[in-house]
Amino acid sequence: MGDLYDVAIVGAGPAGATCAWYLAQHDIEVLLLEKAKFPRDKFCGDAVIPRAQRHLQRMGVLQQLIDAGECLFTTSGGFVSPTGIECLSDSAENPSGTPMSVKRIIMDERIARAAQSVGAELVEEAAVDKVVFDERAGRWAVRSGSRRFEARVLVLADGAQSKLARSLGIVQDGPQAICSRAFVDGGTHDFETDGICYMERDLLPGYAAIFRHPNDELNYCAYIIPGGKAVPSDLKAIHYGLLENNPILRRHLGSGYQIEPMRGAWLRLGGIPKSYGDSLLIVGDAAGHIDPLTGEGIQFAMEGAERAAETLVEAFRVGRFDERFLSAYQDACHREFAHKFPLARKASELMARYPELVDSMARVANERDDEFFFAWADIMMGEAPWSHFLKPKLALPLAAASIRELVTQRLLPLGQRVLPGRA
Ligand SMILES: Cc1cc2nc3c(=O)[nH]c(=O)nc-3n(C[C@H](O)[C@H](O)[C@H](O)COP(=O)(O)OP(=O)(O)OC[C@H]3O[C@@H](n4cnc5c(N)ncnc54)[C@H](O)[C@@H]3O)c2cc1C
Repeated sequence: MGDLYDVAIVGAGPAGATCAWYLAQHDIEVLLLEKAKFPRDKFCGDAVIPRAQRHLQRMGVLQQLIDAGECLFTTSGGFVSPTGIECLSDSAENPSGTPMSVKRIIMDERIARAAQSVGAELVEEAAVDKVVFDERAGRWAVRSGSRRFEARVLVLADGAQSKLARSLGIVQDGPQAICSRAFVDGGTHDFETDGICYMERDLLPGYAAIFRHPNDELNYCAYIIPGGKAVPSDLKAIHYGLLENNPILRRHLGSGYQIEPMRGAWLRLGGIPKSYGDSLLIVGDAAGHIDPLTGEGIQFAMEGAERAAETLVEAFRVGRFDERFLSAYQDACHREFAHKFPLARKASELMARYPELVDSMARVANERDDEFFFAWADIMMGEAPWSHFLKPKLALPLAAASIRELVTQRLLPLGQRVLPGRA
């Protein structure tokens, strides 16, 4: 017999540790099992948007990061469009906030320690290799090597590969997207802003991004997102190819910068059909809670974790752990963020098909005031609904610019090709 907990959570990334923190607030006995030992790295772009910052604030982690100088608010930067239009702005004044950069090796440990400090039992170096539900006893047996734990409810937060959920048959396929990461040494580059996304034509809907850390190191990464020409096996070629050949990226980095070798990791995008079962919930990347347009998932890992904790608190109150009751978790995630995933997927396909739309966005943003840029940024960060794209202030100039770009980039060159032939 192992120790018996109310909830066993597998994986102490942002999803698992945040879920543990919320559950422990309600005197639920939580076991948080992590295969690594903190501090542990996680390959990531390190961009943490305001929706995630709010959870960090509640946990006291945001203040710790600020006090220790471990995060940097991204107040300058923007994006570079496929034809090379640089749309850079100062976003310090955006009332909705700005993303911040923080190394995952720092942030993830701070979240896990916050969960521990409110009563969750964190066991590091505990790689869970098997989970079995005993229907008669209504308990999970969770095995990590020779150690065995028991819990009333199991929460799987083991990341994009969802190995345990796949072993249970609840998740069937592998993750679809991939992203690289490499740090550039501080003091060796010429990067002047805090963060820029490079929307390269052949990479769309994926993109490359650079975010500055407070110690002047840069996080460079390249996302390959389904819907365009690039496929996961292209990752290395794209990662190094952009550094080599993208003239704007080269100019921003300067010559002589020192960059570490590329690492990469998978992303599971856009949700999974079912993220619950009897006495079981799946959260974070394991549940595919990553935006199919941006590849960002820390905010949904934390929001989904809070929804999971709420569902479980109610489950313990009424004593119901059947999958019908726990399906409330998936419904809550759908209401809060997952309903946007299909639209985000469509938007990413549209962007890959018509890169001119991204050029038009850059042109309009450069012509307009900060308010326009903030309105666009708020939609991208999930601070404002997608329907705000239909507001005349955004929709009219964007529609006009898109038509102009499509005509200039697609129709005029066609005419030029036809006319000499006619002559
Ligand atoms: C290269 C890259 C760049 C990205 N950039 C961004 C970005 O800039 N901003 C953003 O918001 N999102 C980004 N993402 C997505 C983001 O990293 C994830 O959405 C986020 O980490 C999800 O948190 P999680 O807790 O679900 O999973 P993870 O952070 O992967 O944590 C899972 C944890 O489970 C542990 N674990 C796994 N298996 C077991 C096991 N069997 N037993 C015990 N423990 C186990 C792991 O060690 C890990 O600690 C990026 C992803 C990649 C790959």
